[in-house]
Amino acid sequence: MSAGASSAYPGEPALYVHSDLCLLAPAMRRAVEYTLEECTARGIDAIVHETYREHATAVAYYKRGRTQKPPLVRVTNAPDETWSWHGYGLGVDIISRAKGWNVGRTWHAMVAEIAKRHGLKSGIDWTSPDLPHHQWGRCKATPSDEARRILREQGLPAVWRAVGADEP
Ligand SMILES: [Zn+2]
Repeated sequence: MSAGASSAYPGEPALYVHSDLCLLAPAMRRAVEYTLEECTARGIDAIVHETYREHATAVAYYKRGRTQKPPLVRVTNAPDETWSWHGYGLGVDIISRAKGWNVGRTWHAMVAEIAKRHGLKSGIDWTSPDLPHHQWGRCKATPSDEARRILREQGLPAVWRAVGADEP
C-alpha cells in the first residue's frame, strides 16, 4: 500500500502510482475496504492497484497511444487528473493479487457485484467497459465542469461533501 515510481514504457518518465487507501475520500475508503474484505471472504484475491492519481501520472497516461508509443492504443480519454474520479480520491482500480491485470470479465464481474452493494459503481457497466475501475456511486460517470470548479476553488474536501463522501 505505497507509491511506486516506475516507467512502463521506453521514453516514459517514472510515474507514481498511489495505492494508499488513505488518499481516498472517507466514505469511498470505507466502501473499498468493505469490498476488499468481502472479496477476501469469498476467495477473490482482489487488491487495489491505484487510488488517487496525481497530475504527472494522469498526463502521462493520456499521452499513451498518442505521443507516447508504445503502447499503440490509447488508454484514457482524461487529459489530466481532473477529468477522472481518480483525481478526486473517488476512484480505484482493483486487480488480482496473483494474476494482476490478467483476469477475465467474470472475475471483474464478481468484484463489481460486491462493490455495488457497498455503494460503488463499476466500469464494467460502461459502454466502453473499464473492467478494473470502480468509483463512488453518487458521482456522475465522469467529473463535470462544476466538480472541476469546486476542486479548483475550494479543494478536495468540498467535492467530497458535494457527493456525500466526506463522512466515513
Ligand atoms: Zn480507474
